[in-house]
Amino acid sequence: MGLMTADEYRESLKDGRMVYYKGEKVEDVTAHPEISVCVNSMAIDFEMAHNPAYKDLAVVYDEELGEEISRYYYVPKNGEDLLKQFELIVQATTLGDGYIPLAHDIGADALNAISITANAMGNKEYIERIENYRRYLKKKDLAVVAAVTDVKGDRLLRPSDPKQAHKDFYVRVVEKNSKGIVVRGAKAHISGAAYSNEFFVLPCRAMVEEDKDYAVAFAIQANAKGIKQVVRPFKPFITPFEFPRKRPVKMITDSLIIFDDVFVPWERVFLCGEWQYAVTMVYNFALLHRRTGCAYRIPLSEQFLGAAQAIAEYNGVANVPHVREKITDLVIYLETLRSLSRSACLDYVVHGGIPVPNPVTTNIAKYHFASKYHDVVKIVQDLAGGLLVTAPTYKDYQLPELHEDIKKYLGGKAGIPTEHRLRMFDLIRRMTRAELETIALHGEGSLQAERMTIYAEARKAIIECKKLAEMLAGIGEE
Ligand SMILES: Cc1cc2nc3c(=O)[nH]c(=O)nc-3n(C[C@H](O)[C@H](O)[C@H](O)COP(=O)(O)OP(=O)(O)OC[C@H]3O[C@@H](n4cnc5c(N)ncnc54)[C@H](O)[C@@H]3O)c2cc1C
Repeated sequence: MGLMTADEYRESLKDGRMVYYKGEKVEDVTAHPEISVCVNSMAIDFEMAHNPAYKDLAVVYDEELGEEISRYYYVPKNGEDLLKQFELIVQATTLGDGYIPLAHDIGADALNAISITANAMGNKEYIERIENYRRYLKKKDLAVVAAVTDVKGDRLLRPSDPKQAHKDFYVRVVEKNSKGIVVRGAKAHISGAAYSNEFFVLPCRAMVEEDKDYAVAFAIQANAKGIKQVVRPFKPFITPFEFPRKRPVKMITDSLIIFDDVFVPWERVFLCGEWQYAVTMVYNFALLHRRTGCAYRIPLSEQFLGAAQAIAEYNGVANVPHVREKITDLVIYLETLRSLSRSACLDYVVHGGIPVPNPVTTNIAKYHFASKYHDVVKIVQDLAGGLLVTAPTYKDYQLPELHEDIKKYLGGKAGIPTEHRLRMFDLIRRMTRAELETIALHGEGSLQAERMTIYAEARKAIIECKKLAEMLAGIGEE
């Protein structure tokens, strides 16, 4: 079939999947007035592959198949390949106005994490299955997301701990037969799942032997029997109280996916009971996905910088020393994220035969982004001023008896139309909402998860530095 067009992608979603939204079952996600906004955002990935302006970035020639495939499903060979994938995600997210198309990027992170784990295990069966599945994805160019985060129940208890209120807080194997396995459980917050073709399901934590039924990874079609999705509600449009714009709104959603005794054939199973390797899979997924997460946040950080500069100019304070300092802080935030992320790609390491971004630098980049995100929001809100939350709405601005008054009294610097100022408040209000702050903190793993990885990965370097300090102190000479 080759590279899908955006229309073919939309058509492929009419497959009888079970999706619930705001208390109702959605018959066709492509026709739903709200979820279709997300379908169109996800379609950006497919549009890029057919647009000459982005094709070089989005598509590669695959020697094995002798055809063009999505760059996402291509196995990176070196740091340059990792960097190109990174730049592709930055570009796709820019086109998505900061919302990520997601059709391939999270799936590709899971695909590579599974390949790395199969290679590390040296299990020929798994290696062959994941290579076959990669070939299938390359040929069909499907949208695939990653369902990793289990609902978990009591966070301090293991999946198999009898003290958990029930056995199904982590996805587990409940039956094995000659044709495949049957799985039960639920995964939470799964981005893009309602309008992806398939999901990769991976364990979300390290396991011990007692957890072996939970050490399971597989790929499954979104419309497979027994799968239900509950999509979180969202605001899909610019409300009638905000200034309208022609550019379509972009959005993505996240799903709770319930696996109610779902059958998975063996050729789609990539881990089943090898509890020692759950950690390899989740670790490599988290590493790859944090690099992807950093790419998502570059366009968003550029938006913050741009909005801060614009509103400071509109308010007439752009050249005041403390404002320039705050704008400089935003530049430092953005460029630190960009350079750490790029250097993580170029300074890559090899896991299970596949180049992956440098683990320490990647985790520092993600931690930098997430831990300072609220400071960035604070700067933009500070520069905007209180009208950010108290300005009259677009509807008030439109009323003939109020229009001239609002125009007169809510103007800022001479020469800047009042409407520009009010439009910028609308944008900043959308950009600084709490929902995005939570994504910054928890998307791709919590702050603590990043700190733990940085410490574990930097352990060798810490010991080398300690030896250096001891040498300088003359310790060992006595
Ligand atoms: C918008 C959004 C999109 C997402 N998209 C995806 C996706 O596409 N696919 C996917 O698989 N996941 C996705 N996630 C999930 C994301 O990776 C998780 O939110 C993150 O790993 C944190 O898990 P949690 O939400 O269950 O929080 P919790 O694990 O409940 O964490 C809450 C707090 O408890 C702490 N904590 C938890 N367990 C322990 C412990 N054992 N010991 C000490 N402290 C602990 C954490 O550090 C944190 O401070 C998404 C999340 C968000 C917010």
